[in-house]
Order: sequence, then C-alpha cells, then structure tokens
Amino acid sequence: MSVPKIKTLKIDGSTGEGGGQIIRTALSLSMLTGIPIEITNIRAGRAKSGLMRQHLVCVQAAQQISNASVTGAHLGSTALSFTPNSIKSGDYSFDIGSAGSTTLVLQTLLPALLFTNTDSSAQSTVTIRGGTHNPLAPTSDFLQLAFVPALAKLGMQVDVQLIKAGFAPIGGGEITATIMPFMRRADTAPFELTERGKLTNIELVASIVNLDYDICTRELASAKSVLIEAGINEAIITTQSNKLQGIGEGNSCYAVVTYQMVDSQSSHSEVFTLLGAKRTSAEKMGNRLAGLVKRYVFKTDALVDEYLTDQLLLPLALAGGGEFTARVISQHAETQAWLIEQFLSVDIKFEQIAENKTLVRVID
Ligand code: AMP
Repeated sequence: MSVPKIKTLKIDGSTGEGGGQIIRTALSLSMLTGIPIEITNIRAGRAKSGLMRQHLVCVQAAQQISNASVTGAHLGSTALSFTPNSIKSGDYSFDIGSAGSTTLVLQTLLPALLFTNTDSSAQSTVTIRGGTHNPLAPTSDFLQLAFVPALAKLGMQVDVQLIKAGFAPIGGGEITATIMPFMRRADTAPFELTERGKLTNIELVASIVNLDYDICTRELASAKSVLIEAGINEAIITTQSNKLQGIGEGNSCYAVVTYQMVDSQSSHSEVFTLLGAKRTSAEKMGNRLAGLVKRYVFKTDALVDEYLTDQLLLPLALAGGGEFTARVISQHAETQAWLIEQFLSVDIKFEQIAENKTLVRVID
C-alpha cells in the first residue's frame, strides 16, 4: 500500500512582514509536521530580496537535520521547495561564512531538535559560526537571558553558550547549544505571564571585543545615571563590563530587567540590547539603553516586550498554548501568528486590553 502524499503548503514570502522570519519559521514547521513547503517571493519585503547567507544556511542545516529534498537553495534565490524526511538528533556544526546571525539559525533548528522522535534520551548539540551580535536579530545574550529562560518555563531544556563573539562586518563568532528532547509533562503548570509583580533588579552589561575597555565603563555610567534620574532605586541596579574573545572589533550593551511575578514564586526577565556604532558615543549608547528600559518600566505594565513576543509564539504553540501580556504587537508577531496557523491547529489571538498592553493567547 502506498503512503498518501502530504499536500504541499504554498507560502508567499511577501506576506505581512515579508522578511527572513517567514522562511525560518516555515522550515521549522515543515520539519516538525512533515508538511512539504514551496516558498515564493522570498524576503520580498526587504531592500535586497532573496536568500542571504544566513537564510541559506538555515535551509541547508534544516535539510541536513531532517534529510530533506530541496530545490532552489542558492544565494539570492527567491523561491524554494523543501520536503522533509525524519528528524535526526545528533551533533551538528554549521558555518555561515559571514557575519550572518548564528542565533537565527539556531532558532530555526530548535523546534525540530526539541521534538525529535528518534530517541527520547538523545540530546543534540549544535555549533554555529558567524555573527553573535547582529543588528535586527537576537544577540547571544538575548538568547541566553530572555529566550532560553522563557523556554524553560515551558519545560524546554536548552543551553546556549557563547564561545566567541562575532560582530559585523567580520563575524567569526561561535555559539554552541545543547538541546534536550522535549517531553510534555502532565503536571506542567499552564504558561501564564500576564501580571507584573515587583521590579527586582536591572542588570546593565557592556561588552567589547578588541576595543577600549573604557567604552564599557562610560556606557554603564551613562545608562545608570539616566535610570536613577528617572526615579529607579539605585540599589536594584548592577553593572558589569566584559572583555569578549573574538576577531574583529565590536561593542554591545544590554539591560536585563527582572520583575517578580505577582505570586512571587517566579520572575520574568526582558533583555534590551544595543550595538555600538562608529559615530555613536558611549554616553549616547548608555542613554539610549536607559531609554529602552524606561519605556518598558514606565510606559506599560505588560510583561513581554516586542522581540520576545514574536519569538515566543512558536514554542508556545508547540508546548500546549498559554497566555502573556505584550507591550506591542509588531508586524513580525502578526506574520508569525499567521504562519503558525497555516501549519498547526492552534488559534493565536491578540486582544488589546490597555494602551501599550495586549493579551496574547495561544490556544491549542
Ligand atoms: P527577520 O527580520 O524576519 O529576519 O526577523 C528578525 C528576528 O530577530 C525577529 O524574531 C525579531 O524578534 C528578532 N530581533 C530583532 N531585533 C532584536 C533585538 N534587538 N533583540 C532581540 N531580538 C531581536
């Protein structure tokens, strides 16, 4: 008896946000569900459309992990087809060959490796070389301090390590992730990140690669003084400077803002990141970083900020659903919700409940 063929899902890559996220999420979901995909108009919403190195490596890595048949996978390609086979856990290594974002490649592969069904005890390790601190992508710090802890709340065990920092234009960074197969436990509490409790701490961190260490000190001093001036208790602010290993040069600063939940049993951390630029002074960077923190602390009482909102939708849809409050619903989040609903029988609902506060519900 022949096995019935699963119908190919056709995806228009120009839908909504029209960026790389559509390809990455479509690959993740195709691997997971076994549904073959055909994507056209790849990254039509971007100035330079088609597959860039990072997206191409996402396709190639997904192909390797799921033993997929692929057509159209080359640089600049605006259409491709991807037919997955079974997912294999294991030890993988990928090199983007540019400063393209390693974290976005990792996020593409995570769902498949979390849900691999080859052997429930088989953990995977993934090493990816390229950029670790990119504009318009989560930095490795964001992954480690915001995304991974949010996954842990869903019962997903992932560990991410920064081996070498990689900044544009040279890259040369490296991250390694260890992924345990996900098993949904019947006693896991429903995912709910809706109400803020007390603001417990703000950690300000500045890092450099092969640049003057003083940049960190100046960024942190500037950010800290703006936050104190805004009325934040100095006692909850900590600062830390890091000298990172890597080739090339780079500077990044970030803030980890942690709120206790109302039940005081757990907490939630948001991470805000900025990358240094040649014509931006360290003081200006610190000032801007404090601005991102102030917006989150004073202008909303939602728990989840813009970037984690779109990044949480897929893990939530896969882990049984849940709800959270979001400061803002970006076009990335809307497009992500639309795409997830193409593959899975879940409902993703956005209900604005106050200014700068939307209730996001992922219903399985
Ligand atoms: P795309 O623009 O389609 O390639 O998708 C970019 C992804 O990077 C989205 O999931 C965003 O949430 C994420 N992202 C962009 N900027 C940041 C940032 N500063 N911090 C964390 N995540 C980010």
